[in-house]
Amino acid sequence: MKNIIIFGAPGSGKGTYSDEIVAKYGMGHISTGDVLRNEIKNGTELGNIAKGYIDNGQLIPDELMIDILAKTYDALPKGQGVIFDGFPRTIAQAEALKKMLCERGDDMGIMLELVVDEETLLARLLNRAIEQGRADDNEETIKKRFEVYHSQTAPLAAWFEQEGIRNTFTWKGSKEVMLGEIFSFLDSVK
Ligand code: AMP
Repeated sequence: MKNIIIFGAPGSGKGTYSDEIVAKYGMGHISTGDVLRNEIKNGTELGNIAKGYIDNGQLIPDELMIDILAKTYDALPKGQGVIFDGFPRTIAQAEALKKMLCERGDDMGIMLELVVDEETLLARLLNRAIEQGRADDNEETIKKRFEVYHSQTAPLAAWFEQEGIRNTFTWKGSKEVMLGEIFSFLDSVK
């Protein structure tokens, strides 16, 4: 499978659909949010730095994030494709990802954009707060994460459009329908 960048607002299902895609196509998976939460759990220096940003709904600085991404990518087996989940989140990260992959003889492959209305996003995040107890899934931090998404991350959709790899999937009320659309698209391009 080609590389995949899964893109969307907090709560749009990036993690959920990534897991389904990994199970079906057997590719590598980098969730930068999971990488950071793991560092926090292990009490590392990086974890301590990341915690302050995550708890406030802010983005970790680009330079640090790009470094983490490259190290995580280099540790994965090559040749089976990687799904990038939660990265890039800024134009600088996107430019860095493109360059990093090009330097390694690879490319960004395809971008999947998940579009979900804000009411559904909020309901999902509040529900996840109950089910998974994520520290940043409280109403105040969620609001901040939406603001950060709109100001820093959403403009990236146009960047991917220019790269000619943007593919949009809009939530119509059913995970099965969304997954069916994503799988038939991926089957046609893999
Ligand atoms: P996520 O699990 O993808 O929703 O990420 C949770 C939090 O981790 C975000 O709200 C950010 O604080 C941080 N984070 C994850 N990925 C990135 C990234 N690519 N750039 C900056 N911060 C990130």
